[in-house]
Amino acid sequence: MKPHIATRTVHAGEARPRPSGAVTTPIAQCSTYAFESTSEIQSFVEKKAARDPDLRYEYGRYGNPTIAVAERRIADLEQGEAALLFASGMSALTTALLSLLDAGDHLIVASSTYRQTRNFVIDHIARWRIDATFVADASLDEVETAIEPRTRAILFETPTNPFMRVLAIDRLASIAKERGILTLIDSTLATPINLRPLDLGVDLVIHSATKYLGGHNDLLGGAVVGRRTLLRDIEKARGVLGGVPSPFDAYLLIRGLKTLALRVERQNRTGLRIAERLLAEPAVEVVHYPGLAGHPDDETARRLLSGFGGVVSLEVRGTSADASRVIDALRIPHIGPTFGGVESIAQQQALFISPDEAERRRYGIPDTLIRYAAGIEDPDDLIADLTRALAQVGGDGGPEDSQ
Ligand SMILES: *Cc1c(COP(=O)(O)O)cnc(C)c1O
Repeated sequence: MKPHIATRTVHAGEARPRPSGAVTTPIAQCSTYAFESTSEIQSFVEKKAARDPDLRYEYGRYGNPTIAVAERRIADLEQGEAALLFASGMSALTTALLSLLDAGDHLIVASSTYRQTRNFVIDHIARWRIDATFVADASLDEVETAIEPRTRAILFETPTNPFMRVLAIDRLASIAKERGILTLIDSTLATPINLRPLDLGVDLVIHSATKYLGGHNDLLGGAVVGRRTLLRDIEKARGVLGGVPSPFDAYLLIRGLKTLALRVERQNRTGLRIAERLLAEPAVEVVHYPGLAGHPDDETARRLLSGFGGVVSLEVRGTSADASRVIDALRIPHIGPTFGGVESIAQQQALFISPDEAERRRYGIPDTLIRYAAGIEDPDDLIADLTRALAQVGGDGGPEDSQ
């Protein structure tokens, strides 16, 4: 029987026994690998041409034993044949798209996709005559309408950020498969604890390992997971484009992954409790969280996700300045971008986009929206802190304000 995922987060991908009986995976802090002789190089080149799966290492841009452990673990957790690790989530996404798409191809992308993914599509691949259609975040109808004979791939995030929309990716996968279109899901927000897109028929899963997988705000990383045949070209492109992580970051990722299940289970519980509590807050106009009844994708979220995550978006009643006051009054979370770490982080998402309000409006993210990303702190503390901060809005600061 295959062990449960919480067991695999701790052990998957690590060979036993390890050098000197060490319990941890050694960091091969190494850029190049020496050969015994010229004839060993000759036999290496032959094995490489024959795609021998047990190939030894040659040079750091093409592989590293510490990176390979992280790749095997992530592949195992996502139930994929293999995974490739990258220097960042953006490196994973851009390398995958560059390797899969040709001039003249068409790509379908969710409109509230991660901002730099959107920028890559608009500012970069468009220059190589790869067209894209942006569709509403959770609309299969819009996807079907957007499909053209030259459509090569569909890229979605589930849940999306910051509105936490959840697409029926199993249905997306079957629509795409019928037409020979590749599906890529950026599953950064879900993590393999809450969602396994490959089991639902998706072709490739992408992660920013910087977020939940690493989990400690101390590394940048990315991953692409899927069938070996699909990963082969992406691996070749990685060797050319060079977006490999450092062995030390791979080690930090292996270490971070060991607590992934624990962390995400806590963050799921805290996220849901915060979202439910916010519904009762007079200073909050809207709560975006897939676990709530009344969320537009409630049914799909319950069907596909085994947890709803630690990210809750809320729209504060009032003005942009009111939302800023709430953020500035928080005492536990850091103020800043990103999510998925052990430390809670909150930010007024729109303010990061541009100093220009018209430019911000194009992204459809209201200035009053706060993205609250719960860490692993005690949920009672986080809720008390957040409700106290919300009480600042409207000037009636609540009893604790006088303390
Ligand atoms: C952060 C993020 C990325 C980019 O990842 P980096 O590791 O920062 O390069 C891509 N997609 C989503 C959904 C993200 O949250």
